[in-house]
Amino acid sequence: MPDVLVAGAGPTGLLTAFELERAGLDVLVLERAARPSPQSKALGVQPRSVEVLAERGLLTAIEPHVQARLPAGHFSGLPIDYTDLPTRFPYQLGVEQAHIAAAIEAQLRRPVLRDAAVTSVTQDDEGVTVTAGGEHRAGWLVAADGGHSTVRKLLDAAFPGYSARISLVVADIELARKPDGLADEWHLPSLASGFLLPLSGGRHRVVVAGEEQQKLGRDDPVTADELQRALTAVHGPGIEVGKVRWASRFGDAARQLERYRHGRVLFAGDAAHIHLPVGGQGLNLGLQDAANLGWKLAAQIRGHAPAGLLDSYHDERHPVAARVLVHTRAQAALGMPNPDSAAVREVVTGLLAVPEARRELAMELSGIGITYPGISGRTTEIAATPDGSGVLTGAPLPPGWADRVEVREGTEPRLVRPDGYLAWTGGPGLDSALRRWFGRPS
Ligand SMILES: Cc1cc2nc3c(=O)[nH]c(=O)nc-3n(C[C@H](O)[C@H](O)[C@H](O)COP(=O)(O)OP(=O)(O)OC[C@H]3O[C@@H](n4cnc5c(N)ncnc54)[C@H](O)[C@@H]3O)c2cc1C
Repeated sequence: MPDVLVAGAGPTGLLTAFELERAGLDVLVLERAARPSPQSKALGVQPRSVEVLAERGLLTAIEPHVQARLPAGHFSGLPIDYTDLPTRFPYQLGVEQAHIAAAIEAQLRRPVLRDAAVTSVTQDDEGVTVTAGGEHRAGWLVAADGGHSTVRKLLDAAFPGYSARISLVVADIELARKPDGLADEWHLPSLASGFLLPLSGGRHRVVVAGEEQQKLGRDDPVTADELQRALTAVHGPGIEVGKVRWASRFGDAARQLERYRHGRVLFAGDAAHIHLPVGGQGLNLGLQDAANLGWKLAAQIRGHAPAGLLDSYHDERHPVAARVLVHTRAQAALGMPNPDSAAVREVVTGLLAVPEARRELAMELSGIGITYPGISGRTTEIAATPDGSGVLTGAPLPPGWADRVEVREGTEPRLVRPDGYLAWTGGPGLDSALRRWFGRPS
């Protein structure tokens, strides 16, 4: 019997499995789809997520697929300079989500079980039983089954927020004729006019949100004619849509689970929070949920988690996603083609010329500014341990912690959590920080 079941082999579920395996646990990922999807919703990874991937040695396999290193993020299309961010990676990595998922999956010890859609979940004091084709049992279930999460519905988990009010189309197409002056590089999108980005293999990514899209139903198929009309409206008659490789509708619904933990079931990624994918935030939230949850759940299973450690996953990550929901709703309002949003846009553009305002936003959007109560930032100079234990530098380790905290050379006093966040940076309090994050000395 595995220690943990994970529902969903998207980037969140895969990184959660990776984190748990790195801590020595046995994890079975159950995935509805028969094979990995070649389609990518996300095309961009924010600096903090690039750090997370790099610290785990996952970036090397992703590098060959990187199409751009954008020195700026964006807030509803307004560029937000990243170049002075305090990170080794002061840029958005332009890479298709499918390559990120594939790089993580390739490192898993136990293969993902595909064609295995979760259809029922029951839990008791000792564990969770899941039906996904056959029956599976483990001590815990991580629900990373995406925005339409079946597990969320099965548990009837409260998911308050707002329903979609605008409708957008995303499509990967081949262009039979390119308009003059179409940029071959990646550029910042605009909600009002959509965007058209070159991808690998002769494809272009299209996102449109015109009047026609607002009138069509969520389940109406996206046709080449609809895309042609939308693209002609923006680029003129010189553009001709060829083959449509993939197309889908999405909206600006913004919802978040009230609680990320339901007994022995923990929610992560889009299963826990949904929002308009503007500003490139969703995938990053999911990857960082996984990095926060993995070591805490591993400590819980190993029996050395201090009281409240597992619940600190909700306490730390819920506010981060709540803030992203605020940001994405603000971006949606700012991006709408109407005179009021144009006025707000003018004001915000002026504010962003103030370096402190721009930097504040850059720290948030990039994830570099994320911190948690009692934590004094993150470190990236100290490489993650292969087994997901903590790291101490610049101070002697008190007896009884050597199985959970590795001592490394270094003069600066630092206690680093397995997810790279700083639990202690000198002075009194090392003992209480050890107890708070790593349990009792053995
Ligand atoms: C058009 C668009 C553009 C985007 N661009 C960006 C971007 O640039 N940057 C960014 O950060 N984010 C972006 N996002 C958001 C990002 O794609 C998502 O936040 C990300 O995919 C979330 O990952 P996840 O693993 O949580 O969920 P998903 O990627 O949705 O993965 C969930 C997995 O669970 C599986 N599953 C579903 N139901 C079941 C079941 N019952 N049993 C078993 N398995 C199941 C699914 O098949 C899927 O493999 C974009 C989204 C869209 C729609």
